[in-house]
Amino acid sequence: LQLTRELEENNRAVKVLYAELDEKAEHLRRADQAKTRFLSNMSHEFRTPLSSIRALAKLLLARADGELSEGQEKQVSYILQGTVALNEMVDDLLDLAKIEAGKVDVRAERFMVAEMFSTLRGLLRPLLGGSAVALTFQEPPPGLALVSDQGKLSQILRNFISNAIKYTEQGDITVLAALVPGQGMMRFSVADTGLGIAAADQAFIFEEFSQIENRLQTRVKGTGLGLPLCRKLADLLGGSVGVESVPGAGSVFHVSVPINYTAQGGEAATMPHS
Ligand code: ADP
Repeated sequence: LQLTRELEENNRAVKVLYAELDEKAEHLRRADQAKTRFLSNMSHEFRTPLSSIRALAKLLLARADGELSEGQEKQVSYILQGTVALNEMVDDLLDLAKIEAGKVDVRAERFMVAEMFSTLRGLLRPLLGGSAVALTFQEPPPGLALVSDQGKLSQILRNFISNAIKYTEQGDITVLAALVPGQGMMRFSVADTGLGIAAADQAFIFEEFSQIENRLQTRVKGTGLGLPLCRKLADLLGGSVGVESVPGAGSVFHVSVPINYTAQGGEAATMPHS
């Protein structure tokens, strides 16, 4: 009898504990939703004044016509560069907030890897300017295709490649695609011969906000939001991202996605026809 009573008391205590945990979880969920709403609203509010500043700085430069000194012109162009960087950050924040709020749909369409590469080449080559870095897209096997969301996959690769350009002073950036045997996945890699990333930092760079400090330690400025966004986008596609890097030698960023995306977790059912 004593034992039964003790057991009952224990049960009651466990129930109370569970109720408290539930309440705490609900509280955290609400705080998280409030944070997402705040980020999204704030990013929206930033957009309008930002585009005014950008437009006016552009106008000032276009109309200056010798009226501004060389120093002043340089200062206005810094304003312009600043607004471009801020704009990118605001876009990344908005994308992150949208994904967290579950407001992003994944489209499944069949497309050729070679075509995606050629669009990316056109978009990214201009970023190289006159730098001593060669950007090469390795020709995929003929007919290599997949069913996925091309826009989101391109966004991930764009981020990887523009980072590779930012953090590489000289050498090569190579982009390639390969099927992962037996897994129904395709793996895209972006390899660079740049600064590399310390082993201790590699675990953090895909975490939201945590890489801001890591970023400050490098000499190149960025938003620190690109890679967390890549990870979230890869999740949406049923895939994953990763990095291997040797400081001073270079990095390889990769993203693997199912070759045949289906809404139920992106399981690969059949090979897409080529
Ligand atoms: P950002 O580049 O805007 O700072 P990201 O989230 O894209 O933000 O990258 C986070 C950090 O990861 C960067 O600040 C940089 O320190 C490091 N990083 C990313 N890509 C590379 C790369 N290819 N080579 C060296 N470091 C990189």
